[in-house]
Amino acid sequence: MELEFSLRPTAEESVPGEGTPEVENMVILGGGIAGFTAAMYAGRSGLNPLVIVGNALGGQAAMTEMMENYPGFPDGIGGVDLAELVQKQAVKFGARLEHDVAIEVDFSVRPFIVKTYGRTIKARTVIIATGATPRRLFVPGEDKFIGRGISFCATCDGYFYRNKTVAVIGGGNSALDEGLYLARLAERVYVIHRRDQLRAEKILQERAFRNPKMSFIWNTVVEEVLGEDHVTGLKLRNVKTGEVSVLPVDGVFEYIGMQPNTEIFRGQIELDANGYIITDKRQHTNIEGVFAAGDVQSPDFQQAVIAAGTGAAAAIEAERYLARLEG
Ligand code: NAP
Repeated sequence: MELEFSLRPTAEESVPGEGTPEVENMVILGGGIAGFTAAMYAGRSGLNPLVIVGNALGGQAAMTEMMENYPGFPDGIGGVDLAELVQKQAVKFGARLEHDVAIEVDFSVRPFIVKTYGRTIKARTVIIATGATPRRLFVPGEDKFIGRGISFCATCDGYFYRNKTVAVIGGGNSALDEGLYLARLAERVYVIHRRDQLRAEKILQERAFRNPKMSFIWNTVVEEVLGEDHVTGLKLRNVKTGEVSVLPVDGVFEYIGMQPNTEIFRGQIELDANGYIITDKRQHTNIEGVFAAGDVQSPDFQQAVIAAGTGAAAAIEAERYLARLEG
């Protein structure tokens, strides 16, 4: 798909600038599918929403090479392409984008306060769409080799491993999706899973089992990432037999699930035991006027289509809330 649009807005599309209101109608935190969809809906309602994009423009979608299950694209759509299209649609209807990161919020006052690195913003409503980021293994060597052989994004870093050997850790949809992507570049892809059954959906399992470049190492966990300047291997332990072994690899891709980006909301709104924001079925948090959408409130369905749906619902509900405020 040919796109003229870039994920970076032009200067005119960015704020703050002239005409920035003293109190925003709606501040949307997060520039992924959920945030941009909310912005598009709010923009079409004339709310002139402000999106604080955060530091992961495009969200998880932008980390995904190809989406085959987003409705309307029978041949699939690239994750970056999808994020760009939704952003473009949001900007077209009046959303303003600010390339900054929310670092503090105060939901105990009205209007709400959102602090970014750059400024303090007042808002009548806030939609939290800050998403989730990949979980880490926390084993020796991991810290040292992140960016030097350990990656969380095959789409971003797979290219460095052409004709090399890589390990993918995890047994979910992400591990297999990204493992299949890596198999197009690498010579060998080892999928290392702690159990002997995959969590990923069957269609992905079948593709992965059929792929001659993919091998599975079952019932095995990573004990240590080995190397000098760059990763050279993994120390593994079979959880059934206790056997410890070394697997030589050039790169490691970790796909062991997601962690919601909710640190700055702790103590401000209700979170579940895993840190996900609790919402009702209309995307309301426990604070009136604060809504949440997308992966940050969806531990069970981390899907772009659900991010879009909940983003739309959050914007509609925020608009209704504002209408009630105005009486
Ligand atoms: P996930 O479904 O939670 O799977 C995480 C995998 O990592 C599981 O196999 C888990 O093992 C393993 N794991 C967790 N902690 C581990 C640890 N400390 N050491 C070793 N292994 C560990 O996460 P995901 O694959 O990132 O997917 C997240 C969400 O996005 C899911 O809802 C998924 O369906 C969705 N998603 C969908 C698509 C798609 O539709 N094509 C693509 C990507 C992601 P166990 O199985 O033993 O628990």
